[in-house]
Amino acid sequence: MFNNLSDKLDKALHVLKGHGSITEVNVAETLKEVRRALLDADVNFKIAKDFTTRVKEKALGQNVLTTLQPGQLMVKIVKDELTELMGGDAEGINLSGNPSVILMSGLQGSGKTTFSGKLANYLKNKKNKKPLLVACDVYRPAAIDQLHVVGGQIGVEVYSDKGNSDPVAISKAGIAHAKANGYNIVIIDTAGRLAVDEAMMTEISNIHKAIKPQETLFVVDSMTGQDAVNTAKAFNDVLNFDGVILTKLDGDTRGGAAITIKSVVNKPIKFIGTGEKMEAIDVFYPSRMADRILG
Ligand code: GDP
Repeated sequence: MFNNLSDKLDKALHVLKGHGSITEVNVAETLKEVRRALLDADVNFKIAKDFTTRVKEKALGQNVLTTLQPGQLMVKIVKDELTELMGGDAEGINLSGNPSVILMSGLQGSGKTTFSGKLANYLKNKKNKKPLLVACDVYRPAAIDQLHVVGGQIGVEVYSDKGNSDPVAISKAGIAHAKANGYNIVIIDTAGRLAVDEAMMTEISNIHKAIKPQETLFVVDSMTGQDAVNTAKAFNDVLNFDGVILTKLDGDTRGGAAITIKSVVNKPIKFIGTGEKMEAIDVFYPSRMADRILG
């Protein structure tokens, strides 16, 4: 995960790590390298620039040049700033409803259906909940079948209505089914398209207004870099969602999406997907991610 970024940051900070004393020139050079590493990881220019400016200000504020181990202090400052950029403390999901309704949004292929299954499995096994999955992709029968396969794997019921072409009606019926049968979580998997378009946004917005979910989650493929950030912005403008799910972090992703998405939409990353299996889900902790990136 983020190997390239980790290597580059390590190299940038290495110069300082070994030194007992460092100069302003060392610091400036290092920050330039840090910025380059962030840009290479597909972090946008302004965010990378602001990041290094903040690190510099903190370093000056803490008199980094006169401390005993300036290198280590710089690494700590970079780590703290990275944590802050990715979202500070971890936030959970709102499970206060009865049932709690969780609406999944995102583009086709982002990993929505897979993540719906992972989340159902996680809530069932780790939080002792009784989830119901609801299939609302009315355009692709294969997507409904896929959710049934996922449900079968994890032993979670899937509500679907293949002849029905109204996702609002299906989601409402799914929630009614949950209430009638003692489910306390409803996870609604919706239709995505390959790119942001008006019809998709209108549809998800109509579902959102009709069912008023406790939690609206936006799922995005971390491999898509800056596109991930732009898509997040488009969905957030329409849904004002509660959190982001970053998928495919097990792949060779550069890291830009993970680092920038929080500061662009001001919504926390709540979970990450780290593989195709149902168990490949992790709560997102910004500080652990910063540790991982900085080694
Ligand atoms: P949807 O169209 O948004 O519902 O996306 P899917 O759930 O069908 O996922 C699209 C593809 O990505 C599938 O082949 C999934 O197995 C794969 N996928 C989903 N999440 C992850 C993940 O975290 N890691 C990896 N490597 N693959 C994933």
